[in-house]
Amino acid sequence: MPVPRTPPLLADEVTLARYPFLPQASDWIRTMAVRHNIDLNELLEGTWMEQARQRARIRLIDSVQSKEGVQVVGGDIHTEEGRLIEAFSFYYARLVMCASEDERLIARWAQAEAARAEQLLIQDTSNLPAVAMTYISKVEQSTTSPSSLTAQSGMGMHQLRQRPSDEWRVGLADFIEICPKITGHRWRLPNVDIEKGWVKLHGERQYASSAKLARLLRERIKAAIQAETLEKMAEVTTDLAVRLAEPVGMVRNLMANKTSEAIALVGAEEGDWPPCMQKIIADLTEGVNVNHFGRLFLASMSATLALPQESCVGFFRGAPDFSESTTSYQVQHVYQHEYTPAGCGKLKVNHNCPVLPGDNRTCDQPWMDHPLKYIRATQRWKRLTERPSATESATTDPPSKPEP
Ligand code: SF4
Repeated sequence: MPVPRTPPLLADEVTLARYPFLPQASDWIRTMAVRHNIDLNELLEGTWMEQARQRARIRLIDSVQSKEGVQVVGGDIHTEEGRLIEAFSFYYARLVMCASEDERLIARWAQAEAARAEQLLIQDTSNLPAVAMTYISKVEQSTTSPSSLTAQSGMGMHQLRQRPSDEWRVGLADFIEICPKITGHRWRLPNVDIEKGWVKLHGERQYASSAKLARLLRERIKAAIQAETLEKMAEVTTDLAVRLAEPVGMVRNLMANKTSEAIALVGAEEGDWPPCMQKIIADLTEGVNVNHFGRLFLASMSATLALPQESCVGFFRGAPDFSESTTSYQVQHVYQHEYTPAGCGKLKVNHNCPVLPGDNRTCDQPWMDHPLKYIRATQRWKRLTERPSATESATTDPPSKPEP
């Protein structure tokens, strides 16, 4: 991804504590550790770092339970102690994620930290430029000069003066790389204003240009946190993993409960669903963005299986961009129009089929070309295994042909 090789200088300690994931924060955190004698033992068990560990637990719990991401409000970072707690809580939470060795958990946590950063950056106009230049290679702010518009009213023609506004624009390469990860028509290339290699982020009535930039930054911040955590995973020793087993277990349990809650919603057996459907539900539950094709497939499968609409909406509740009203409207539309769920070929092309040859016996069958066939075959196989006389034949491969 085209991220600047040399980030701009950032030395303000309040800013570094507020955004402890910034590459510029690493040296500062190291200096603070030396200045306050914070070593690994202190961070894991010391009384001085107890508050940082508590705040880290909140960061981790929020990452599983809150769809808004990690709570924006932390300690008072205008005091040295508050800055220490905020910075080292991030550091400790990252250690826990590394020790979990669970890429899905790491992705979810990175997403939650990035969502928190987005909320902060929307308000933080003084630091937005430096953070933007840290993660986006081509980005600049321009002031749109006032222009005259002519409007007609019952009292005749009037000249309307627009107020000057600051608008951001980003390089086309950055935009193209980031926008597929964001849902919504305004992020599709045909709908944006492109000029000489720049994409203008026009301000809208309810969506300011700076908020759009913060949204793009969220994706880059998430990718950076995720990549760094995965890289540091290799440094976790057995001893460290044992010492972090308790917080890792806490997050794992929370996540397991969350996933089974979503699946239990429909009262159907998870084992009947094809892997593609299960994967999309699990991704959404864990806050991983699912592309438009995958979302439409899940809604149309739910409609075909006659699952209640509320259950289908519930699948999307963990999505990074979930909106109750928008999702309910879109799900209702799919249910009303009875869309046919996509077949395996299209799901594979759109990166929504998670299986490879050898992963799943049913998906490997030569006749498997539609997820509904998967369900029929699974149900038929279950019926056969439930009949005592058919026990023997049921231990072989699934039926060679699906039920009509
Ligand atoms: S092969 Fe078909 S049914 Fe199986 S996971 Fe892929 S898309 Fe779904």
